[in-house]
Amino acid sequence: MDDLEMTNDSALTNHLKSATRILIFTGAGISTQSGIPDFRGPQGVWTRRQPVYYHDFMTSEAARIEHWDYKLEGWEVFRNAQPNAVHHAIVKLERAGKLLMLVTQNIDGLHSLAGTSPERLVELHGTNSKIECQTCHERTDPAPHFEYFRAKRKPPICHCGGFLKPATISFGQNLAPGQIQRAEQAARKADLVIALGSTLSVYPAATIPLLAAQRGAPYIIINRGPTDHDHEHVTLRLEADVTAVFPPAVDSALSS
Ligand SMILES: [Zn+2]
Repeated sequence: MDDLEMTNDSALTNHLKSATRILIFTGAGISTQSGIPDFRGPQGVWTRRQPVYYHDFMTSEAARIEHWDYKLEGWEVFRNAQPNAVHHAIVKLERAGKLLMLVTQNIDGLHSLAGTSPERLVELHGTNSKIECQTCHERTDPAPHFEYFRAKRKPPICHCGGFLKPATISFGQNLAPGQIQRAEQAARKADLVIALGSTLSVYPAATIPLLAAQRGAPYIIINRGPTDHDHEHVTLRLEADVTAVFPPAVDSALSS
């Protein structure tokens, strides 16, 4: 480790130590260590399959079958994935009373599995760890629905008659307004904002950390590879694997 890296690491620790209302924003880069593939990457499923748009899902049985088939392909990966040191470090910050809100773009459900409380978590793009009825909005566990689809090749239907769909936001589907509101409220109150493992290129999600930074909260970005916010109000930019850098900084900020 050279001098510059040491300086940056201790700057990160100092920010974590002095902040009391931290807003954390996470993207796909924090979950690759948990075996979740980056769906936008070159090996990603999106390069092989056309995404099903929400309107098509709601109006076409063939589109619903295609969507369930696509989700079934990812199901084995998601159901076996375990949170890693980054997910656990964020839980430590919450237990220390320093986490204002965790806003994630990830749909893998790993923050929840690691122990982040629902009242501290905004899953902007929804979650694969629940199935949601598009009519009554009841949320249920995925396993029985995937088993039904695997056996019958028919999309499962809610007891109310509505279409069931994994609780992720589809292409052409609006983000839940209540979730955006919770994230924006946190961005207005945060005294530190940290973006972890995101290219910050997907909107409106990426407006959340920027909103906090524009208000004057110190903005730290840790990501391997360039991000869209590298020239926007950034206080500290660490070009690094977030798994290697963030958990030790949290440990040292909380231990002293
Ligand atoms: Zn229903």
